[in-house]
Amino acid sequence: MSTIADNIAEVEARIRAAALAVQRDVTSIHLLAVSKTKPAAALREAYAAGVRDFGENYLQEARAKQLELADLPLSWHFIGPIQSNKTRDIAEHFAWVHSVDRLKIAQRLSEQRPAELPPLNICIQVNVSGEASKSGCTPADLPALANAISALPRLKLRGLMAIPEPTEDRAEQDAAFATVRQLQESLNLGLDTLSMGMSHDLESAIAQGATWVRIGTALFGARDYGQA
Ligand SMILES: *Cc1c(COP(=O)(O)O)cnc(C)c1O
Repeated sequence: MSTIADNIAEVEARIRAAALAVQRDVTSIHLLAVSKTKPAAALREAYAAGVRDFGENYLQEARAKQLELADLPLSWHFIGPIQSNKTRDIAEHFAWVHSVDRLKIAQRLSEQRPAELPPLNICIQVNVSGEASKSGCTPADLPALANAISALPRLKLRGLMAIPEPTEDRAEQDAAFATVRQLQESLNLGLDTLSMGMSHDLESAIAQGATWVRIGTALFGARDYGQA
C-alpha cells in the first residue's frame, strides 16, 4: 500500500512533468492538499513530507483539525461553499478563501478579518460549466464582482478558482481551463492566481496556467463520506 508520502512524491512528479511539458517554471505551481473528511493524523503525515497548505470544505471539520494541529505552521485555505453565518470564523482562521462567488460574502469577510492579520487572500469561484454547476459566479457577473471585491480593504483579490464539470477528455479539460485563464486576463486587475486542477485533471490545468492545484484523492486516497 502506498503511503501519503509516496502519494505526495507521485503528485509532485506529475506537477513537474506537466510544467516541463509546457515549459513553465515549476515554482510557480503550488500544491494545495485537500484534506476534507481526512483525520488530523493524515495531515500530520503530509506535513512531515513537506506539505504546508491544506484546503478544507467544511468549517466545523476544519476548525477541529486546526486545533489538533495548532503546533504546526500550516496555511489554511477554505474551498467550500460559504454561508453568511460562517464568514466570521473563516475570516479569523484562514489565510485564503478560494470559493467566494458573491459580494455579500466578500463584504462580510472584509469587515470580519481581524486587524492584526494580513489581508485575506481571495479567489472568486467562477462557473464555466453553465447549468452543470450550482456554485460560482457567471462569467457575465464576474467583472463587476471582481471590481467590487478588489476595492474591499481587508481582502486581497488574487485570482479565480474553477471546478469544471469532470471529464476525462483532455481537449474538453483544456477548453474549460483556458476559459478561466482568459476570464482572468480580461479582468485586467493584475491578478496572479489561478486555482484550478484536481486529482484527475491537474496536467490540463497546469498547461492552461494553474498556480494552485487542489489535490485530494491522489494524496489521501478515496473519501468515505459515510463515516464523516
Ligand atoms: C474535494 C475538492 C478537491 C479535490 O478533489 P480530488 O478530486 O479529490 O483531488 C478540489 N477542490 C475542491 C473545491 C474540492 O471540493
